[in-house]
Amino acid sequence: MRLLTWLSMCILLAACSHAGGVKPAGFGFESLGDGIYVHHGAHLDIDVGYQGDICNISFVVGSKGVAVIDTGGSYKVGRQVREAIGKVTPLPVLYVINTHVHPDHVFGNAAFSGDKPQYVGHEKLANAMLNRKEQYDKLNARLLGEDAKGSETIVPTISVKDGMELDLGDRKLILKAYPIAHTHTDLAVTDSKTQTLFTGDLLFIERTPVLEGDIKGLIAVLDVLKSQNAKQVVPGHGPVTQDGVTAFNNAQRYLNTLLTDIRAAIKSGKSMEQTMETAAAGEKDKWVLFDIANRRNVNTVYPQLEWE
Ligand SMILES: [Zn+2]
Repeated sequence: MRLLTWLSMCILLAACSHAGGVKPAGFGFESLGDGIYVHHGAHLDIDVGYQGDICNISFVVGSKGVAVIDTGGSYKVGRQVREAIGKVTPLPVLYVINTHVHPDHVFGNAAFSGDKPQYVGHEKLANAMLNRKEQYDKLNARLLGEDAKGSETIVPTISVKDGMELDLGDRKLILKAYPIAHTHTDLAVTDSKTQTLFTGDLLFIERTPVLEGDIKGLIAVLDVLKSQNAKQVVPGHGPVTQDGVTAFNNAQRYLNTLLTDIRAAIKSGKSMEQTMETAAAGEKDKWVLFDIANRRNVNTVYPQLEWE
């Protein structure tokens, strides 16, 4: 029964995520119009069935060239993105932007080296990538096998301290680096022409939000992003939405519930293991991959709050 619910949910999500958009054959990209394209990875956990293609990957076309926002989890995925761009425009890829350090977002980077782009990320991203290189190389080899071949750690050539603008011709991308939230390397991107906000993993839609950074920091950053009132929002995982406020509120509701429940559990002397079973349980039916992600979040947040 559980499996059936799961399967039907996946099929439903696959259908919904492309509603109203153009889905070309092969490696699918949804066209949002105005030169913006988004590929939706599958809602799979990194520990269960990971195939290198689970996050959103976007590209934005200007009159001078293209910017790619996240590159997927392997060289293989990155190649598919590069091919899809070639079908849309002959213009070069000028910028490859990584929204944060997580392996599902960065290991397609090498597929763009032929364009000699600038690689762009948070000022702390280069160090974070290098510190995790060994761990992530092992993880890719173990989980992706052959598909990991050609994947490389390519660090930013441009690092963003606070904010920065990138000119694509006829449009600018406005980059903003955030303090510790989902990770300590989070960068959000806004397209000036359409007021489309690309949040990276600061925002999840459908899929349970996860964090390795700071839960209070993430809740605060979500307030900042919400106040931007973007016309449309592309999350790190999940469908594009024109109703960013609802999406940000949903994520904050989950995170605030988790925060409140973990604090209460610590106060009443519950162990971390016990807390994993109960914290934010009321959110369970509202998100995909809840059990595994929520346990992981408790594992991150509980030790942080113990010393509050
Ligand atoms: Zn992430």
